[in-house]
Amino acid sequence: MATPGWLLDATLDLLLGGRCAGCERPGRTWCSACREALGTLSPASPPPLRRPDGTAVPVAAGAAYVPPLSSAIVAHKERRRLSLVDPLAELLAEAVTRATALRPEAAVRPDPPAPLVLVPVPSRPAAVRERGHDPLRRTVRRAVARLRREGHDAGWVPLLELRARVRDQGGLDAVERRANLRGALGVDAGAHRRLGRGVGRARLVLCDDVLTTGATLEEGLRALTAVGLPVAGVAVVAAVAVRNGG
Ligand SMILES: [Zn+2]
Repeated sequence: MATPGWLLDATLDLLLGGRCAGCERPGRTWCSACREALGTLSPASPPPLRRPDGTAVPVAAGAAYVPPLSSAIVAHKERRRLSLVDPLAELLAEAVTRATALRPEAAVRPDPPAPLVLVPVPSRPAAVRERGHDPLRRTVRRAVARLRREGHDAGWVPLLELRARVRDQGGLDAVERRANLRGALGVDAGAHRRLGRGVGRARLVLCDDVLTTGATLEEGLRALTAVGLPVAGVAVVAAVAVRNGG
């Protein structure tokens, strides 16, 4: 039966009594105070990540991974609070423009800059099945819509695919994550073809929801670089404050 997620959530909240996913206050699933707090977060600039050849790739985060943003990301991802995609996409879109050093006025210059192509890190198919949606793709699509509204030539392409079976990253340290992920990502040949000749001009921006150790994103950089796709920047919705060893 195809009941839309938002309708199900709204109905359950109505029947069972909802709580704000950010502050646990009874009432709406995301209260106005938490909504307002998301809009006032300061952008975060984590240290750059490294391409396989050691060169640095600029990284921008919408904000630090702290409440209520951390709660919003979890609620959107795990509890299908789909209305939260808007503030999360806004943070991601803002991070994309900073990672590629775009100023707002760049969009309306007569000679437009190269198109932005957002590339989401792929989710594990089992996780997508369990959650009933792909929260990162949803956020990326919405961020692209936002960038277009602001006048940018932007799109997204699911270039990356999972190649190897990957254990859940929870509880692994930075070194273990790297080992777990080595060779895990590859470039989907069909998506690469669809990107076609435009790729020479495009600015690829690798996107994820949360930057923790950076191991997943560096594996993404490795996979894209391996087939000759240059990555202009990395953008994430939120970054944890401390990264150990990249
Ligand atoms: Zn709240």
